[in-house]
Amino acid sequence: MSLGAEFERVSLPLEDAFTISRATQEVAENVVVRVSDDEGNVGVGGAAPSAHYGETADTVEAVLPDLLDAVEEVGDPHQLERIERRMRETVERNAAARCAVSIALHDLVCKRLDVPLYRYWGLDPTESVETSYTVGIDTTETMREKTERAVEAGYSTLKVKVGTDRDEEIIRTVRDAAPDATIRVDANQAWTPREAVRKIAVLDDYDIEFVEQPIPAEDPEGLKFVRDRSALPIAADESCITLDDIPRIADRADIANLKLMKCGGLREATRMVHAARAHGLEVMLGCMIESNASIAAAAHLAPLLDYADLDGSLLLAEDPYAGVPMPNGEIDLASVDRPGTGVREE
Ligand code: MG
Repeated sequence: MSLGAEFERVSLPLEDAFTISRATQEVAENVVVRVSDDEGNVGVGGAAPSAHYGETADTVEAVLPDLLDAVEEVGDPHQLERIERRMRETVERNAAARCAVSIALHDLVCKRLDVPLYRYWGLDPTESVETSYTVGIDTTETMREKTERAVEAGYSTLKVKVGTDRDEEIIRTVRDAAPDATIRVDANQAWTPREAVRKIAVLDDYDIEFVEQPIPAEDPEGLKFVRDRSALPIAADESCITLDDIPRIADRADIANLKLMKCGGLREATRMVHAARAHGLEVMLGCMIESNASIAAAAHLAPLLDYADLDGSLLLAEDPYAGVPMPNGEIDLASVDRPGTGVREE
């Protein structure tokens, strides 16, 4: 079968500057990949590279030709397992670039078969979870305003970024502004193990759902130290990148936070979901700041999740792509009436 492929860089301004403990972002550079077959079907996928994992839009664009050649060598787009393996052999790192191709091919294959992606996987679209909406670090007053806006917009699960010298003040303010919300907290590796134990004990007074990545990924023993002393469940994000990490975090965390852009493909992500469950971990799917070219695919995994943090597109000023609707944070897979991921250009 002859396949065509093209890719394009898209700059996506954010609604508000987005700050986490280590960086501020105002624009997300994504790369959108389109793969077409000779029957006129076009699969769309996206890469949302993260500098933290060594990728930029430039590195994505640099490796995509080799990845698309690898797809061409396999030839049959339905052989997704073989294609993901071949891409991993071709480009070991660059997970976001591989992921864009994986998503585009899943979208293409489902369009060829005329089924939505969740149906291709055999999942129940009504078994979805709701996504959290993230409140980034800002002045405490602005965080209060952002929280009020999120509650007003209908979001009932908030993820609050911390890792400052005023973390308790932030959480007290957010809790005050959203008394009924489910609140989870993400420190993005900012704390030391002892600091984490101390802060988590304080956060426990504010009815927090769980704490994500309290300490640096480079300190696995520190993570165990924190988890053993934490009253709140611990989610591993920066400590949990690919399948190999699942057994490593199994006794150091309660929740595995997977991201398509970290693991490099949809098949790899589903493998991680099942491996995490086998190791007694709960499963969360997160994202980068992404357009629906990739978020739409992530949304189809919702029935397999305990927690979703798929607000990447919701944080954009404008997304050139529509995907799976998320009214009030509800991932409404059942409303997807198109084959593939449901992605379409606005
Ligand atoms: Mg995180």
